Amino acid sequence: MARKPKEMDTKESSGTRVVCPRCGSIRVHSGEDKGKVMTYIGGIPVYKKLWTCKDCGNQWG
Ligand SMILES: [Zn+2]
Repeated sequence: MARKPKEMDTKESSGTRVVCPRCGSIRVHSGEDKGKVMTYIGGIPVYKKLWTCKDCGNQWG
């Protein structure tokens, strides 16, 4: 039977696993790009998500 493999060794508060597209590091920090509003929900701006790699300093979103 198909059983899901255990992948819960490292528990991250964000819940999502993002790797740096440049160096492949998982030490990435999530933030918001305050300059780019994606949409408004109930009049509150939802900013574009911006990721920053703690190892190579790469930023993407
Ligand atoms: Zn990186």
